[in-house]
Amino acid sequence: MIGRFKYDNEVFEGVVRGDRVIVERGLYCDTFILSELEILPPTNPSKIICVGLNYIDHALELDMPIPKKPLIFLKPPSSVIGHHGKIVYPGTAKRVDYEAELAVIVGKRCKNVPSRDACSVILGYTCFNDVTARDLQKEDGQWTRSKSFDTFSPVGPFITDQGLDICDLSIKTRVNGKLRQDSTTSNLIFSVPELIEFISSIMTLEAGDIIATGTPPGVDKLSAGDEVEIEIEGIGVLKNSVVSDGDQIR
Ligand code: MG
Repeated sequence: MIGRFKYDNEVFEGVVRGDRVIVERGLYCDTFILSELEILPPTNPSKIICVGLNYIDHALELDMPIPKKPLIFLKPPSSVIGHHGKIVYPGTAKRVDYEAELAVIVGKRCKNVPSRDACSVILGYTCFNDVTARDLQKEDGQWTRSKSFDTFSPVGPFITDQGLDICDLSIKTRVNGKLRQDSTTSNLIFSVPELIEFISSIMTLEAGDIIATGTPPGVDKLSAGDEVEIEIEGIGVLKNSVVSDGDQIR
């Protein structure tokens, strides 16, 4: 697994092996103890492309027709936070929801990638929380404001870059330890290769970009003081707490 870290004001990438982090320094390697490092978001994307309504069980829950093509939208890179980062509940929102999602991390610049070649442009996978101000989403009729607040894109903790078969991974959300979402990526309507073909036919993907592949059923609200965990099998647990706008450190 690959992560980004901070120690003594230095930011670096490293390979996570158990409770250690190995950092390449040219001809030699440094080893750090994971718990002594600040964990940063594992990628620094130029954009975040999200897919709406991409789980069969979620479409059934909402009594919505199964989409015929992916519905995509963007979140800004400024909304990204990492593992243990705080989700700031905006003063202008009355309802803020979690959405557990499998995130694909793009490995290289690409355009017009056929689905059969999609694996060659993927660096790996991680957990994503598509935090959404649901009341503002309904009020606006389009999604930019509701999805774009600073801290509304928790991602991480690390990127699993090897040997992960993503066809049937368990995906879960817990809020304050209580299970709220519980599904599997086998319920995805559009597969990751199909999404890469579709999205890269529209826009150039850059190394580090995030594709968030949609959320399963069980979406619900968060409150200040909550602790939300997104867990995906083979990847890990992304944990974040929620603070109100007035509590954030400026
Ligand atoms: Mg979503």
